Amino acid sequence: MIPPDEALRLVCQHAVALAPRDVALEEACGLQLAQPVAADRHYPPFARAMMDGYAVRLGDAGRTVPVVGQVAAGDRFAGAMEPGGCVEIMTGAPCPPGTEAVVPKEHVRRSGSQVSLPGQLRAGQHIAEAGSECPAGRVVLQPGQTITPMAVAVMASFGIVSVRVVPRPSVAIITTGGELVPAASEPGEGQIRDSNGPMLAALARDVALERPSCLHVEDQLEAILDALERSADHNLVLLTGGVSVGTYDLVPAALERYGAEVVFHKVRQKPGKPLLFARKQNQLVFGLPGNPLSCHFCFHRYVAPAAQRMSGKPAPAQALPGTLTAPVEPKAGRTYFVTARAEPGEEGQWLVHPLPTTSSADIFASWPANCYAQVPPGKEPIPAGHVLPFTWIGSAPWPY
Ligand code: AMP
Ligand code: MG
Repeated sequence: MIPPDEALRLVCQHAVALAPRDVALEEACGLQLAQPVAADRHYPPFARAMMDGYAVRLGDAGRTVPVVGQVAAGDRFAGAMEPGGCVEIMTGAPCPPGTEAVVPKEHVRRSGSQVSLPGQLRAGQHIAEAGSECPAGRVVLQPGQTITPMAVAVMASFGIVSVRVVPRPSVAIITTGGELVPAASEPGEGQIRDSNGPMLAALARDVALERPSCLHVEDQLEAILDALERSADHNLVLLTGGVSVGTYDLVPAALERYGAEVVFHKVRQKPGKPLLFARKQNQLVFGLPGNPLSCHFCFHRYVAPAAQRMSGKPAPAQALPGTLTAPVEPKAGRTYFVTARAEPGEEGQWLVHPLPTTSSADIFASWPANCYAQVPPGKEPIPAGHVLPFTWIGSAPWPY
């Protein structure tokens, strides 16, 4: 048995960024960029009117001048701006050569084809000069940055339709246990519905893994081995159940037959003591405990950071200090990770309300949790008001 900090360190050490590959721009949001992105030309590409109004010469300030033409967005004015005249112009249109200022429509008086201009004009007003936002060749996005919707807009502006990224890890979920039936079925005597399968699929989506493949197997060595072999192409394999010490806990034996090297098995923590972590070449395999709360916690603390790191992102997330609003009972010899709801307190601190459960199987009291608080091993109760580290579940922060 190793302590939970050592377990997390080993997981992070083995989880390395996947090889970059090209994806369509519309698939790229949320992924880590693996190439620099530079402007293909000046932005704006031409001196652009920023208002609907009139392109003018500074010397005509305070005068009434004729409108000699019009230019709409997407058009071009044939000819140049001469003193003593103005050109009606729309937002986004290229300023005619010689334009010194754009006067908003609201600031002139127009009668027929004559326009009276204001007495005060500032050189370049309401004009975005070519290259003023971003000159050609400037590197705007760097490798290692997360692609946001605005970054997608930048790349679309530059004409990029395919981009090099660290891909999403692909994941296989394998539920084990003869007692399990699918959610749509009526359980028979001694049976329960599979809740870990749907939960892990939802967690996978929460941390931006690729859509998982899901298999269910009975507690038989050959069946587990077969499911592992059918999952060989995935970056991550998540088994649930069958990792403890029962006669039918056959996941460790199946992993040995599969040829995976066990990095650790059993962690000094509650929930999730039976956790197993193994690797086969670049594939990472987690044997998650079958108890639903243990399964959830082990995903939160170990699988999510592994997935983040495989996606090229920094992980694990920093724990924050939170003030307990009710006492908690620590566990002797094991770090206790208690489900809790964190919310902002009046002095800018986080208040952590523990959500006590009856067991590692009990998700019914825990499900509203938005964080896990970390309680060090011990015997004495920890009183309300004590500060403990906590980590957000998934993409919480408050409100979740
Ligand atoms: P195990 O780790 O296989 O010994 O399972 C521990 C407990 O978790 C048992 O009560 C199982 O019935 C339960 N369990 C295992 N797998 C699941 C699952 N996929 N969904 C819900 N409960 C499960
Ligand atoms: Mg089982």
